[in-house]
This record gives sequence, C-alpha cells and structure tokens, in this order.
Amino acid sequence: MAALEVGGLDVHYGGVHALRGMSLTVGEGEIVALLGNNGAGKTTTLSAISGLVRPSAGKIVFDGRDLTRARPEAIVRAGLVHVPEGRRVFSTLTVHENLQIGGYPVRDKAEIRRRVDRVYALLPRLAERRAQQGGTLSGGEQQMLAIGRALVSGPRLLLLDEPSMGLAPLVVASVMELVREVNLEGVSVLLVEQNAKAALKIAHRGYVIESGACVLGGSAAELRGDSRVVEAYLGGV
Ligand code: ATP
Repeated sequence: MAALEVGGLDVHYGGVHALRGMSLTVGEGEIVALLGNNGAGKTTTLSAISGLVRPSAGKIVFDGRDLTRARPEAIVRAGLVHVPEGRRVFSTLTVHENLQIGGYPVRDKAEIRRRVDRVYALLPRLAERRAQQGGTLSGGEQQMLAIGRALVSGPRLLLLDEPSMGLAPLVVASVMELVREVNLEGVSVLLVEQNAKAALKIAHRGYVIESGACVLGGSAAELRGDSRVVEAYLGGV
C-alpha cells in the first residue's frame, strides 16, 4: 500500500483555483519528484498535505489514516514534515538552537538530543558550526540546516519545497546527495523542484503538474526520456 495517497484535491485562494483535482502517491521508501512551472500548484500541493491550506475537495491519506482535515501539528506527529521554500532558518538563533526547535513535537529531551546528534553525524559541517548564528551560514548550509531541523521532528515522509533554489550547481549536488542519504535511512520524500534535472537524478518516480493537476507521471527514467519533459523542463537537451 502507498504511504501517501492524495486524491482529487481542489484548493481555492479567493478567486484563484490553484489545485484542480490534484492526485499523487508516494510509496514507502520512495523519492517522488513533483515538477512544474511557476504557479503550477506545487507549493499549494505541499501546503495542502501539511494542513497549511484547506482543500475544498479531495482526500489525503497517510498509511491508511485520513489526514484531510487534521491540524498541522497532528500531521507532523503522524510523520509528515514540510521543509518550506526559501531559507526559513531562524537567523539570530544558533545552528544548535535551530535544530532543537525541530524537536518541538517530541516530549523526551534525551530523544531530541539523540536526533540532533544523528543530524550532526550526517552533516559534520553543521556540527562544526553549531554555535554559529543561522543567518550567517551560506545558502547551502542554511538549506541543510532546514532539512536537519525537519529530521529532528522524526519524519517518515519529508515534503521538500525547492531545496535547490538559488544554490550553485555544486551545492545543489550536495543537497541532493543529502536527500538521497536521508531516503536511504528509510524516510520517503516528496520533492518539489524547478530543477528537473537534479530532481530526476535522485527520484524513483515523478509527476508533472500543470494548472493544478498532474498531466504526466512515470518512473524517473521514463520522464527523462519523455520528449514533453525534455522540451519543457530539461532545456531541450
Ligand atoms: P512556484 O514554483 O512559482 O513556487 P508553484 O507551482 O509552487 O509555483 P503555487 O505557489 O502553488 O505554485 O501557486 C499556484 C497558484 O495559486 C498560482 O496561481 C498562485 O498565484 C496562486 N496562489 C498561491 N498562493 C496564493 C495565496 N496565498 N493567495 C492567492 N493566490 C495564491
């Protein structure tokens, strides 16, 4: 059974009909890429899944549990953790404090410490900078900190919104490598990206979203070979 099943989502922002029957699945242990142009509805899809916007129709089921009308905190506790677009680290807090904030759904202090230590083991650059203010990190380091903080919340499925945004190609490669490592540790990933090339390198499957609904889906290899994807998202190579 699929870990996450999203079916027929509709979202309206006032007069804007942002999602029109959006459906997708993410299986246990998968990395699934969600590709699409500006304004196609990628961020809205993640926001609906994490309970930040309310769909007017459709269903969100995670491991057999209906989360369509669940509150954002309950969704995090169920294991769905959203890493929003942009550099959303607390700039005046240290790296260590930023990571500890990820432990807010967890009561057990020792468990939070263990999870923060696991993040440091995975990301030694953050360990070296644990006392540094978040806002003074490089763009790539801030993205890694945002992902690290999400890991401290104990995700079973990560919702990543454009982790490559504004980063140099080498840094994009190391962020994608981090996503792959996190996945190998057993966390499923729904990866929203405008950088289709980078996303399809690590994804198992993917979808293309246009005007609020999926218009194409398949394995990463199928999408890389699809002439529509090549033309619209891979720069016609
Ligand atoms: P991008 O890659 O540019 O972030 P996206 O695919 O993530 O785009 P969304 O941000 O989901 O697209 O936006 C989908 C549509 O909904 C767009 O037309 C956008 O203008 C509109 N929209 C998004 N958020 C709001 C909002 N808070 N109020 C009104 N309209 C919104």
